[in-house]
Amino acid sequence: MLLTDLHNHTTFSYDGKNTCEEIIENAIANSIDVVGICDHQFSVGSDLYRYVNKIKECKEKYSDRIKILCGLEIGCRPKPNDLVAIESLPLDYCLFECLDASIGAMDFYEFLEWSRLFTIPKGLAHTDIFVLENKYGLDILKILKENNFFWELNTSGNYNYYYDFITNPEKQKIISDSKIPVSIGSDTHFIKDFKISKLKSAHTLISKLGNPIIFS
Ligand SMILES: [Zn+2]
Repeated sequence: MLLTDLHNHTTFSYDGKNTCEEIIENAIANSIDVVGICDHQFSVGSDLYRYVNKIKECKEKYSDRIKILCGLEIGCRPKPNDLVAIESLPLDYCLFECLDASIGAMDFYEFLEWSRLFTIPKGLAHTDIFVLENKYGLDILKILKENNFFWELNTSGNYNYYYDFITNPEKQKIISDSKIPVSIGSDTHFIKDFKISKLKSAHTLISKLGNPIIFS
């Protein structure tokens, strides 16, 4: 089983404590096969060009040791500028966050329309699908799948939906039946907090459920 970790922050994020190299070397030390750097769009801001180039440099530097992907985490509370969609073109993927926030999140219908501007692979970071389903009364999973979204299982321990999901066989069955592709991310902001055991358990669970794991 390939190990992927598509959610890592570096010093390009206001809350990231490690450099790109430190995140990548930590991933190599933990035998991760695919590591994604996914800094906050609102922190990277006008530094996007430097950010993409930095990750490109790392892709070359570590090419024989690990696969590196360049992502961006885009907050949806409130809606960002449309230009972000054009700026995202050189990226390998993006993760949208905060759609399930109780206050200030973009309306889901508006989000869906807006997200069509993005042509790169896109996923929902640490989003409680079941909160969205209750709020809108829609089959959110089906809509996401039809619109080529993947869904993230975020192992950081900062989001309740993770504990809920790993302990709830009914919810696991719903995700499994939907066949939505899943990305797995540690959401590391500081490598001291990184926990390989949680990342491995998440891979085991998602493989058992039969959902495709993104970029594996
Ligand atoms: Zn994050």
